[in-house]
Amino acid sequence: MGIGIMLLTFVAMEGVAWVMHKYVLHGFLWFLHKSHHTRHNHAFELNDLFFAYYGTLAMLFFIFGSEPIDYRFWVGAGITLYGVAYFLIHDVFIHRRIRVFGKTSNVYLKALNMAHKVHHKTEAKDGSESYGMLWVAPRYFKEAYRIVNKQQELQPWRSTPSKS
Ligand SMILES: [Zn+2]
Ligand SMILES: [Zn+2]
Repeated sequence: MGIGIMLLTFVAMEGVAWVMHKYVLHGFLWFLHKSHHTRHNHAFELNDLFFAYYGTLAMLFFIFGSEPIDYRFWVGAGITLYGVAYFLIHDVFIHRRIRVFGKTSNVYLKALNMAHKVHHKTEAKDGSESYGMLWVAPRYFKEAYRIVNKQQELQPWRSTPSKS
C-alpha cells in the first residue's frame, strides 16, 4: 500500500516536473531557470534552488504524515525518490556535474540524454522542446538505437590493442 503510493507519486512527479519546466520555469520563473540555460563555470546555479523547494515540500509531507504514518509519508518518500533520480540523471549523468558515469550503451539513457541536449540547444525562454526528464518522446529512440548499434559494431575493432 505505502510502496504503491510512493511509486504513484514518483510517476506523478514526472508530470509535475514537465508542467513546471514548460510553463513555470520557461514562464514567470525564467529568471531562476535561465542560469541553467547559460554556459558558465560556477559550481552552483540559481536553478538549484528548485532542489531546496522540492526538498522542503517532501519534508513537510514527512512531518505531517509520520505520527502515525499515513499516505502523506509515502507521498514525501515518492517526491524524495524522484528528486534523487532527477539529480542522478539530470545533474550527474547528463550534465556531468560529478564525473562518475562513462559513455552509455543503453538505448533509453542515450535517447534521454539526446532529448535533454536538444532542450538545451536554445538558450532562450521560448522555443525549446523536450521538457520531461524520464519521459522521452519516441522519436529519439530511433536515433539512439542507431548510435548504440554503431558503437557496438566499432567495439571489437576499437578494443584491439594498437601495435607499437
Ligand atoms: Zn529548461
Ligand atoms: Zn539540463
